[in-house]
Amino acid sequence: MLDHALTHAAFDDPLPRHQQSTHRLPQVEQLLQQAFLVPHIACLSRPLVTRVVRDTLSEVRQSEAFRQHGVTPAHLEALIAKRCQQQVRRRQTRVINATGTLVHTNLGRSPLSHKLWDEVRDLNTGYNNLELDLATGKRGGRKGLIATLLTCLTQAEDSLVVNNNAASLFLLLQEVAKGREVIVSRGEQIQIGGGFRIPDILALSGAKLVEVGTTNITTARDYLDAITDETTMVLMVHRSNFAIRGFTESPDIGELARALPDHVVLAVDQGSGLTCEEFAPDETPVRQYLKAGADLVCYSGDKLMGGPQCGIISGRADLIKRLEKHPMMRTFRPSRIIHSLLERLLIHKLNKSPLGEGIAQRTLADPAAMQVRSDRLMAALPDCFDALPAQLVVGGGTLPDEFYPAPALACRDPRPAQQLLDALRELPVPVIATVRQQKVLLNMATLLEEDMGPLIAQLADLLTPAPRES
Ligand SMILES: *Cc1c(COP(=O)(O)O)cnc(C)c1O
Repeated sequence: MLDHALTHAAFDDPLPRHQQSTHRLPQVEQLLQQAFLVPHIACLSRPLVTRVVRDTLSEVRQSEAFRQHGVTPAHLEALIAKRCQQQVRRRQTRVINATGTLVHTNLGRSPLSHKLWDEVRDLNTGYNNLELDLATGKRGGRKGLIATLLTCLTQAEDSLVVNNNAASLFLLLQEVAKGREVIVSRGEQIQIGGGFRIPDILALSGAKLVEVGTTNITTARDYLDAITDETTMVLMVHRSNFAIRGFTESPDIGELARALPDHVVLAVDQGSGLTCEEFAPDETPVRQYLKAGADLVCYSGDKLMGGPQCGIISGRADLIKRLEKHPMMRTFRPSRIIHSLLERLLIHKLNKSPLGEGIAQRTLADPAAMQVRSDRLMAALPDCFDALPAQLVVGGGTLPDEFYPAPALACRDPRPAQQLLDALRELPVPVIATVRQQKVLLNMATLLEEDMGPLIAQLADLLTPAPRES
């Protein structure tokens, strides 16, 4: 947990003159009474701070510097405070996203709107009817109204909700395809994020992978020629985080659906959860896959849909029923917090209210707001930035080939870019930026309204203004 290099560095510092160094280290309990630890205990808990104190004392005791010179109380305090501070930085905290990636996997993916969060607060802090049918007083289904709302949105016969889209995929393979053959195009054997690979998930689920086509071309005929009595599914997977351009071909899904024999389920991992949003005209929304004849479509609840992170499977009622009866379903089902947020999001989405929009839709609908943020920062902190055009991406494995224009500010601060980048991350409300051509770049697309106050206040202290270069 503790970093040795740091101890030694700390002990190389000259000792403060006014304090006597000692070879007798204080008791852990004695140190825990000290005022300087009160805020750390509040932040980290007493047992965790106790561990930090104990570990620090034991390292000091074993250090060569201590054996030779002892330690002053001030030095020891400073060292313990520093170690506590390192732990505090590991706490979950709000950060300011200045990267230009709207759905940022490292930054919590999709931010939820305040109003949506407030709407579900009371029903989560009290008891609710999660599994009670209020009409009969009997046990009810956890998904409640959600499946019906999803039917309105996608025309699916039925839907279910799980913890994330990776779980959707695993569940549908396990239930429908275990021990049987699943046909997947070679162009869609992808890896999504950290170690989640389609062939591995297939193998884990017990399904047998049958590869067809090539990286760039797979036709309906390729799928049809691979079908045997053992085939149970054709799985199509959205290429979420890369694009293949040039000489490419994928089958028309409607044509494929019509040609597949009855015993073969057509499943699509749509990925992003695009439903009615209009900003991605080249993408296929969930509804369109279902209309074209897909039996099951799975997708994320947050990426483009804009709700809490979860996975959704929509499609044929008989198949959804089977998935719901899977013995592992209980391990996949999300908490009531997720259910409540998703339900309210869907209602707003169906009413075309702004509360039904995800961060991508909200941002792309109002590009002028990005320029306003840029102007505000320039005015508040004169001579600190150069404005320049940049781009935003939706990110999170959604629209790999789409770049939208977005304004950015390059910091004129004289520090080396990496040093400034680190300093921004160390602020009380950390600012996550990027570097372009040796300059730290603040992208205006991903700043939220509530970021502006803390951002300006923190940058006013941090940045050194520099006169405009001519
Ligand atoms: C993002 C994505 C996943 C994984 O979704 P999670 O909700 O992160 O588990 C799976 N398949 C596709 C095509 C995706 O885009």
